[in-house]
Amino acid sequence: MSGTVWAHVGQPFESAHYDLVIVGAGRMGAALARSVRELAPQLSLLLAEEGGLPNEEGATILAPGVWHADVPPSQLARAEKTRALLGDALNVCGLIDLSAEAREGFSPVSQVWTPELAALIDPQVLPFARLDTRAGTYSAGSVTLASANAAIHGGADLMLNVRAELCGTDPAGRAQVQLHRLSVTNMHEVIVAQSVMVTAGRVIVAAGAGGPHLAEVGLGTVTPHRTAYRQTPRLEVGSTAGSPVLRHAGLLLRPRDGGYTVVPPIVHPDPWGYVPTGGRLVGVPVGLRRETLDALLDNMDGLSVLAGEGLVLGRSVADVPGAWVALPDWNVEGGGWPLWQRLDAAHWLLLGGEHADLTGLSVARELAVELTG
Ligand code: ADP
Repeated sequence: MSGTVWAHVGQPFESAHYDLVIVGAGRMGAALARSVRELAPQLSLLLAEEGGLPNEEGATILAPGVWHADVPPSQLARAEKTRALLGDALNVCGLIDLSAEAREGFSPVSQVWTPELAALIDPQVLPFARLDTRAGTYSAGSVTLASANAAIHGGADLMLNVRAELCGTDPAGRAQVQLHRLSVTNMHEVIVAQSVMVTAGRVIVAAGAGGPHLAEVGLGTVTPHRTAYRQTPRLEVGSTAGSPVLRHAGLLLRPRDGGYTVVPPIVHPDPWGYVPTGGRLVGVPVGLRRETLDALLDNMDGLSVLAGEGLVLGRSVADVPGAWVALPDWNVEGGGWPLWQRLDAAHWLLLGGEHADLTGLSVARELAVELTG
């Protein structure tokens, strides 16, 4: 039997007890909910999400949605499992890595040359290439929606427009979560319209970049995870569904909707309290922050299309799609990859972040196995 969905405060909700509460219905939380319902349908489950599904401002909806196999050996099994879990959602279009120097596994770029590529890169600057034929693109938002739907059809409850707050555990050892149900006034102000407490056997924080902060404020648990604001500007240059992804120096050009999304590498975490602000290009204010501009400038010689008119620079940050992403275990050797960790007897943290496209689904699955095993 399907679970209940609460979308607005007009639908009454009374305090309740669940076996599991998942905070955050981004790609990680939704995938976990789906897997838990599949593995242990007898467990009652509430998925609580602050925004819509998936949240327009979350990392999921703005995820590049690029899968490839160029991962460290320790992540390879997870990447393959994620590819299998993606199934038909993956559009296998290939990924071309470009290089200025000859490297192992790379061939002359002429071997992958197409007229389309001629419009994007300068082969004099990037004469070497490697094609990953199994790589592809997908919509993380659609996959999340499908996961959440499957969870609800499998009996999970979902509450949207609710901000969850962790309140430790009660004397019986049950986790307590305060649910602040949100509403919008006719002046478009978001207000808390109702607060209810739920108890849970276990709570999983899958709140994306907000997760570590929730754990710190609610449980006093400090974690080594950081966050960064990633911008993904649009490039208005023709692409088709079969166009390959291009990559150079950590920057991706991801074909999307007849153009490309530019995905710059994340070079450092942002300090707590950082407010994204646009930078300046030859004195003119643009919507791209300094780090994003630097990544583009570094790549303009080889990815010559970035120096053309197709790049949407915007006038302010609001003009450029961008989201906060988690940087799991930043600074830890081998860190940066999706992970789950136990915070205390009743609380877990599930983090996707920068590389969630590659291994996120399998990590969510691993936690489901742990919680239901
Ligand atoms: P991930 O890739 O880790 O799933 P997202 O940012 O896409 O990352 O997803 C995290 C989700 O958690 C977002 O949809 C966000 O709205 C939600 N979220 C963050 N904080 C809270 C909270 N306190 N209560 C409920 N949902 C939250």
